[in-house]
Amino acid sequence: MKIGTKLIHNGHEVDPATGALCTPIYQVSTYRQESTDRFGRYDYGRGDNPTREALEETVAELENGLFGFAFASGMAAISSALMIFSAGDHLVVCEDVYGGAFRVLTQLFGRLGIESTFVDATKVNAVAAAIRPNTKAIYLETPSNPLLKITDLAAVTRLAKDRGLVTLVDNTFMTPYFQRPLELGCDIVLHSGTKFLNGHSDVLCGFAVTKDEGLAQRIRFVYNAVGAGLGPQDSWLVLRGLKTLRVRLEESQRSAHAIAAWLLDQQRVRAVHYPGLSSHPGVEVHARQASGAGAVLSFRLESVELTRRLLEGLKLAAFAVSLGGVESIISWPARMSHAAMPPEERAARGITDDLVRLSVGLEETDDLIADLDRAING
Ligand SMILES: *Cc1c(COP(=O)(O)O)cnc(C)c1O
Repeated sequence: MKIGTKLIHNGHEVDPATGALCTPIYQVSTYRQESTDRFGRYDYGRGDNPTREALEETVAELENGLFGFAFASGMAAISSALMIFSAGDHLVVCEDVYGGAFRVLTQLFGRLGIESTFVDATKVNAVAAAIRPNTKAIYLETPSNPLLKITDLAAVTRLAKDRGLVTLVDNTFMTPYFQRPLELGCDIVLHSGTKFLNGHSDVLCGFAVTKDEGLAQRIRFVYNAVGAGLGPQDSWLVLRGLKTLRVRLEESQRSAHAIAAWLLDQQRVRAVHYPGLSSHPGVEVHARQASGAGAVLSFRLESVELTRRLLEGLKLAAFAVSLGGVESIISWPARMSHAAMPPEERAARGITDDLVRLSVGLEETDDLIADLDRAING
């Protein structure tokens, strides 16, 4: 069965108790137990909720994993997954990692004795060179945020397996519809489901998925102990949002291709980063490991002044943080998603003040291009 069909038929399309064509919202915190020596399947809402479980099983199935965990945000998922490591452990992390991940790694996990080294993961040699005797994991994002750099997942995973390291991949930009890192040998897939998976800019959520039972047990321990699991109302909304993932992504991606091509022709646009462009340095690796370039692109303008004018002047794309909604969203990485990164670190990574990131929504392509044209050339 293809993934587009799995979005609709995944074992949770019918409620077994009533025949309802969706999973109900189990708004409950605790469950009555049958007897003193036999506890039921569910005991307390921090660890288990049937609505959340339906969502977790669905996302695990889409990623071709066996164990899924739904969290209250992408950062809750990332942080909980990182809590499987201990003081004295070392991680190798791709350098243009999501700003919030950079913040927890440097300011929180660093304080707890888990150290990170940031490398240009598009170069497998750079990843290899950063590995130390106490390195436990490699943490990747591909395409990365906001420069859409591509890491060769199969190559890094081979390296990780040779050295006995766990590979974690933040798959937010691609979603399992376009890219399934577990199939390429990665161990833990992470998501901000706030973005494309939910897709309607109305829920924060995150996921961790694995097919390794040992890793799943370690994540489950944190999940239940820390209690950052997703609530039942939000779980239900994400189950609903997921059903249209294919049509949303296909449509947004089609527009993103057209917009990227249009931007390339604009004199006031200096660089366009989109892994669907033949000029993108990672286009071949990306095409090997993903079935589409997605709906996020970034570009640089000829001046910071024009950048501000564009951000404030667009009528359709909302000037906001986040991405992956039905509405187009334009953001300013240097001052938004990556504001948590010190200016010199940003500069070293190419996250300049003239860079904007566009998440293409479901508006008509011609209208989006006309809006950009007016703001850039008008
Ligand atoms: C938004 C985002 C996150 C954080 O997710 P939240 O749901 O905002 O906590 C992590 N990784 C990437 C790539 C993101 O875009």
